[in-house]
Amino acid sequence: MSIRFTNVDLHCHTTASDGKLHPQQLLELAVEREVTLLAITDHDNTLGYRQALIAQALQPELNQVELISGIEFSTQWRGVNVHVVGLGMDINSAQFVAAEQHQAAARRERAEKIAQRLEKKGMPDIYELALSHAASADAIGRPHFAMALIEKGYVSNFDMAFNKWLGAGKIGDVKVMWPTIEMAVQWIVASGGVAVLAHPLKYKMTRTKLTELINEFSHVGGAAMEVASCQQTSDEQRYLLKLAKQFGLLASRGSDYHGDHMPWNSLGRANPLHAGVEPVWTLFN
Ligand code: AMP
Ligand code: MN
Ligand code: MN
Ligand code: MN
Repeated sequence: MSIRFTNVDLHCHTTASDGKLHPQQLLELAVEREVTLLAITDHDNTLGYRQALIAQALQPELNQVELISGIEFSTQWRGVNVHVVGLGMDINSAQFVAAEQHQAAARRERAEKIAQRLEKKGMPDIYELALSHAASADAIGRPHFAMALIEKGYVSNFDMAFNKWLGAGKIGDVKVMWPTIEMAVQWIVASGGVAVLAHPLKYKMTRTKLTELINEFSHVGGAAMEVASCQQTSDEQRYLLKLAKQFGLLASRGSDYHGDHMPWNSLGRANPLHAGVEPVWTLFN
């Protein structure tokens, strides 16, 4: 275990995707929480990471947190929306720039479809309102639609927005444009990064199916999986640790922090990673 990176958080979000804090505020919180190594992993873009680098250049005290590049790619696997985190890529490489453009186009196209479907159900003018909550049309996602539905009074809260309209299997769950896991892993690896399977237990798969997912992920070049997160029991981490070992994957730790409106995912406060498997951050020492 590395002594240098003692409080590692390799999964969190900013206003560049669906997080509440601007990258500068996120870094301030990371300093306060004594996070030593941080990856900002916004959904499908690195705008927040780039803004964080600027914040560090302007505010020297923010350099107490070591930043590595990060992203959380949306993919689809057997009809499930699977997330693949990329760490340590050269975000200016031609391959990576193309990947971000691909995902931005997919988000724009998906948002139009979501808006059309909601309109057909008697909810017009949602798109503009959703867009007003997103960093740009390239970064628009379902949480921004959830905010718009709440503002319009169609639902009373976030959970209801997902349960009724946007969650898995509902009309706003448009995911046909997401790439395969293999594609996302290739984007990451071709840009010099490490591909990490995000929050394996969030997909609510059977053990057999999850094993198949991890098997495929490792065969296409995935190198790590998230093992330590917030809101997990010791048994859950043990189960993930066993899977990581079985497939020769490195282990990651991340809070998936989005903001204090979701206090259960708290920056820098994921469970400590159990011993017994190599942490992915040894690659960044
Ligand atoms: P998108 O990337 O646009 O498909 O949006 C997915 C994001 O929506 C996730 O990363 C979560 O932050 C959020 N999300 C997904 N499901 C729910 C849910 N049931 N309730 C609240 N937020 C959710
Ligand atoms: Mn999110
Ligand atoms: Mn995710
Ligand atoms: Mn996330």
